[in-house]
Amino acid sequence: MYHQFMRRDSEIPRCPFCREPFNRPPAAQSKREGDFFKWTCSCRAVGIFDSTGSNLGEALMEGLVLASGDDWDKALGLEENKDYQIKHLEGYSPLEHRVRGGRFTYKSGRGAFIFIKLL
Ligand SMILES: [Zn+2]
Repeated sequence: MYHQFMRRDSEIPRCPFCREPFNRPPAAQSKREGDFFKWTCSCRAVGIFDSTGSNLGEALMEGLVLASGDDWDKALGLEENKDYQIKHLEGYSPLEHRVRGGRFTYKSGRGAFIFIKLL
């Protein structure tokens, strides 16, 4: 993992809500379901990485359910900007686990990383 220290600070993937860097631990990888990679931050924000970048609606729903403690009824009743906030982590490269500036945006088909936090 020596190259962790060779990254520029701006390339370190961080939670967009609290700026805490996150790793790609084996525990998180084992939660991978289908095309999604899920991650929960210590600030209770939930990160969902959609490797295709084309299932954002589904990724959002997965994130809301996860943030609601797997309570679908609660998740379905949530309203954006009233009950939860969404932030996008742009330019995340899952293979390198680093943020590559604006090169890989979620529109480029390189995957989309959205973060959801209940208010
Ligand atoms: Zn956080």
